[in-house]
Amino acid sequence: MQHFPIFLDVAEKAIVLSGGGDAALAKLRLLLKTNAQIHVLAPLPAPEIQAWADEARLTLSLRPLGTEDISGATLVYAANEDTAEDARVAGMAREAGVLVNVVDNLEASAFLTPAIVDRDPVTVAIGTEGAAPVLARAIKRDLEERLPQSLGLLARLGKRFRAQAEALPMGRIRRDFWSAFYFRSGPRAAQTGPEAIEAALEAELHAHLDAEARPGHVSFVGAGPGDPELLTLKARRALDEADVVVHDRLVPAEILELARREAVILEAGKEGFGPSTPQERINALLVEHGRSGAQVVRLKSGDAAVFGRLEEEIDALEAAGIAHSTIPGITAASAAAAQIGRSLTARGRNSELRLITGHDVEGLAEQDWQALARPGAVTGIYMGKRAARFLQGRLLMHGAHPDTPVTVVESAGRPDTRVLPSRLCRLAEDMTAYAPSGPAVMLLGLAPREAASVAARIETMLKEHA
Ligand code: SAH
Repeated sequence: MQHFPIFLDVAEKAIVLSGGGDAALAKLRLLLKTNAQIHVLAPLPAPEIQAWADEARLTLSLRPLGTEDISGATLVYAANEDTAEDARVAGMAREAGVLVNVVDNLEASAFLTPAIVDRDPVTVAIGTEGAAPVLARAIKRDLEERLPQSLGLLARLGKRFRAQAEALPMGRIRRDFWSAFYFRSGPRAAQTGPEAIEAALEAELHAHLDAEARPGHVSFVGAGPGDPELLTLKARRALDEADVVVHDRLVPAEILELARREAVILEAGKEGFGPSTPQERINALLVEHGRSGAQVVRLKSGDAAVFGRLEEEIDALEAAGIAHSTIPGITAASAAAAQIGRSLTARGRNSELRLITGHDVEGLAEQDWQALARPGAVTGIYMGKRAARFLQGRLLMHGAHPDTPVTVVESAGRPDTRVLPSRLCRLAEDMTAYAPSGPAVMLLGLAPREAASVAARIETMLKEHA
């Protein structure tokens, strides 16, 4: 940032402008919004400038600027549209140690005048360091449309109401009060007049004093594997109503977009072997927002109760006396099984299903390997991408058949999903070659339906030939 934006107090200060043409007019239109003492030096001023002088809005001298005009000035503008004259003025200003702006000459200027959105006392200044005036204008246009014209008036009346607003507890409720006033009831009332605005402030205050009684609540919501259509209706409703959404890294943008526009969306990312938000921080976040009376959605991928540290978060809320509930979701193993057309349990094959994690907080996770290695057993392995070699070794060591099918389903239920059918004996190599970049779940003991039926057909054929 070469140019640092500041708001300069120019009330009753001298601003000197040299020039009387279009460039001078453009700058004067802005400067006349201030309470500065404006002195214009122009041998041939435009009629508008003469008129402003007649109205005593500025002082006009019909001559070129001299050194004596600059002493004591806060700012000097060189707006002569004449390179030599502008250079002369700028030189004098620099010598006198006064900040100077040469219109349309970035290099010669000590400061720039930004594009301004004026809702006095709310002022937005936009600058691009001269790089893209078009961009500054586009941003200005966008803000002009978005900020109600009445914002200035609302801000002035709002400022007077600040002491009364202190009846509201600090934090979310007070913020909600101000945003409801500035963006909903205030602009509406402004169409009627200042008295209606004052009435709107009173009405909002009472509505929000009542809202204070509403207790905070945290819903643990399973977001499913990532396809918005795999959300439950309850999950959708909870998102519709949430003030705050605290989500996992795995929850995709398409699902977060279903939250209200005003909702605060916070990522509490965790990554296996990677950077992550400490659990205590997540707990503290939930408690903080729950305490402020917010309706919080703690959005977890898949099912909130599967490898989601759900109970740690529940414990934290209960310790703080904050109400909570859980909305289940579709876990990755279910989505993956659906995708490969297989059942997670089957009569005569497996009447039990295990869900295990490849690694836990301590690293690679130990399991009941013997049970997992039994023929026919089916296991959903989560967070197992980096544990493939370890899993393979342990399972083979405990007697699993080397040909046991393992199907890796990456990004189940998402458009970029991929399926890797593998076997235990080559799982590690296959995973290295395939290198999934998205989340992947492994189904140990299940081959994709198609592959499984081809294998069964080959087996029957071989038997028939024997
Ligand atoms: N609560 C989640 C699991 C969170 S642990 C659930 O019930 O699904 C994170 C692990 O879940 C990932 O490492 C991956 O193994 C698995 N996972 C999550 N989303 C997945 C998806 N869309 N496809 C495949 N695996 C996924």
